[in-house]
Amino acid sequence: MQNARLADLRARAAEADRADPLRTARPLFHLPDSVIYLDGNSLGCLTYATRERLRAVIDEEWGEGLISSWNEAGWVDLPARVGARIAKLVGAEEGALVACDSTSVNLFKVLAAALALRPGRRVIVSERSNFPTDLYMAEGLAALLGQGHELCLADSAEEIPALVDGDTAVLMLTQVNYRTGALHDMAALSKLAQDRGALALWDLAHSAGALPVDLAGDGADFAIGCGYKYLNGGPGAPAFLYVAPRHQDAARQPLSGWFGHAAPFAFETGYTPARGVSRFLTGTPAILGLSSLDAALGAFEGIEMAALRAKSMALTDFFVEAVETLCEGHGLTLASPREASRRGSQISFHHAKAYGLCQALIAAGVVGDFRAPDILRFGFAPLYNSFADAIGAAEIMAALLASGRHEDEAFQRRNTVT
Ligand SMILES: *Cc1c(COP(=O)(O)O)cnc(C)c1O
Repeated sequence: MQNARLADLRARAAEADRADPLRTARPLFHLPDSVIYLDGNSLGCLTYATRERLRAVIDEEWGEGLISSWNEAGWVDLPARVGARIAKLVGAEEGALVACDSTSVNLFKVLAAALALRPGRRVIVSERSNFPTDLYMAEGLAALLGQGHELCLADSAEEIPALVDGDTAVLMLTQVNYRTGALHDMAALSKLAQDRGALALWDLAHSAGALPVDLAGDGADFAIGCGYKYLNGGPGAPAFLYVAPRHQDAARQPLSGWFGHAAPFAFETGYTPARGVSRFLTGTPAILGLSSLDAALGAFEGIEMAALRAKSMALTDFFVEAVETLCEGHGLTLASPREASRRGSQISFHHAKAYGLCQALIAAGVVGDFRAPDILRFGFAPLYNSFADAIGAAEIMAALLASGRHEDEAFQRRNTVT
């Protein structure tokens, strides 16, 4: 019985991979041998184009061109050029998005700008289950401002509307929850915030490159996102930030460094912000990271975001089915929304021994990750993950659970980075 079901799942995976309209993207990536990589939502894979580009940036632009490369190699425009490529993936207007700094730092900048646009309002509404750095940055900013700003945290998505009122300055949400993958309705929640006089700030860390996003169409006021997850920019690659055109002239950000100045090379004593979103830049851009991100974004060229979403939904649905079929009776329960349209491109399960199971899976070549307290998380990057990856991971997990090897002492030792 189980053998027949496994054979059926394997056959369907092979057929789905053959029919995959995105199958030409996988060969653009270096994928390590004997590894099923389901952690592209933490660190995306390396593209061959990135390796080539970084070699050229190091050997030619930096090695030979040195300082002249700021002009000759266009280094100085990279935040805007890379921003324009990301803008296409997230539905941002032209000139409304730049690539720079880290997600945490960008959150600080846009949140400060948003709060300043709503003087007299003191509350930032978010979720307790938001990624901690977002909440930590908001806490730190509130303390620094010293104007009595406070964070008000919803315990569930359903609770959010009741918390947004006349005291709310900003509704600050992550579109796709990092633990469960649950997806918010960006249009509805942005409208809710704006109808009550607040601004909507979205973190796209688990959305950009994972599903179609329509910042302009959904009426977002501000957004930020990550360069090293589904955008594959490499470890610590620059992040991005978005400011809706209607706010760009009025918005001011506190990290008023020279790259956000109207004339950085005039070396004036006083600060005058640049026009548009460039005023949100701070210091000298990280050229190696930006170049790496720029090259990696090439993998999205010619990809229909609707096709990417369709594949992501089919792939994650298939993984849920495979795990629930092959691992039945071993204590895994789905932590992600069962309906594909209500989640991003990841699948999470609760398991009482999640940490050991995650370590045992990694030792067996299936790389997902663990999120405290009991979550096993599997990211599916639609550009390079296949249906064969999904059935392969489910089979290995079933074998581990049946053997009990995940309970071995060796798999319980906690690493610094999980
Ligand atoms: C990954 C992630 C970040 C990462 O922030 P860094 O500044 O790059 O460390 C921030 N917010 C969310 C929601 C994330 O998922």
